[in-house]
Amino acid sequence: MENDYQKLAKCIACSSTQNTFFCRKNDFDLYRCGSCGHIFVYPLSEYDASSLYNEDYFSGAERGSGYVDYDQDKEPMRSVFEEYLKRIESRYSRKGNLLDVGAATGFFVDIAQKMGWNACGLEISEYAAEIAQEKGLDVVWGTLRDGMFQEMSFNAITLWDVLEHFQNPNREIRACSKLLGVNGILALSTPDSSSWYARIMGKRWHLLVPPEHLHYFTQKSVKIFLERNNFDCEEIIKIGKTFTLEYILHTVAEWQKSSLLRKVVRFLKKYPRLGGFAISINLRDNMVVIVRKK
Ligand SMILES: [Zn+2]
Repeated sequence: MENDYQKLAKCIACSSTQNTFFCRKNDFDLYRCGSCGHIFVYPLSEYDASSLYNEDYFSGAERGSGYVDYDQDKEPMRSVFEEYLKRIESRYSRKGNLLDVGAATGFFVDIAQKMGWNACGLEISEYAAEIAQEKGLDVVWGTLRDGMFQEMSFNAITLWDVLEHFQNPNREIRACSKLLGVNGILALSTPDSSSWYARIMGKRWHLLVPPEHLHYFTQKSVKIFLERNNFDCEEIIKIGKTFTLEYILHTVAEWQKSSLLRKVVRFLKKYPRLGGFAISINLRDNMVVIVRKK
């Protein structure tokens, strides 16, 4: 039965108002666009996102979808991030200025710097930005709305696992576009809600985690969304991610609300070499999208 919310809810990708209720999760209602399949939290009042991404999110999160230890969790991703950069480099003839939005503790900024880019980062969490700065990395605490880096012109902007967190993706992508130079490349990764895995899992998909994730793009909706913001879609690819054993067990434990698995995660903390064991996973429910500014 249609209610007022459905009438008001407008798809941020294709602007359709033909949306249907998808599910309720973590006390948030999710709707699905009848035209492009985009899934989104609605209604969504403005809230202070920075309070969500505090120290707990980046280290020692006992509950929720945050990280056990951000740098340790990301270490197995090194080769994946290098692959992302090679994809960008294959589309951009020279290495120039790169901005990583949602840079966290600077893991990717560091890799890009080592691969010859003049890389800097923007991070909403003061805690994570300070860790990056202590490593000597140029990571600034703030958001795209703060008007940072206005004097710069970037050749590439990256958003790894960030787009799904934005309350207003159109506003943020327009801000990225302003910072990009002519023919600049924007590269992002985000969950793919049109993937087989996501569709089979439905409401139980482990990446369905409001209020951390607010937008669940489909391959169709992300393409429409970026093209409407004046980008040409160059490629959408599926690259598997690599995780630590501890991170995988933590995610499954929180997903299944399993007290036994939570105990195993606590046990692994005492054995970092075992917990840090890297495992490659490709559920094909994440997409990497590379677009060029028109
Ligand atoms: Zn739509």
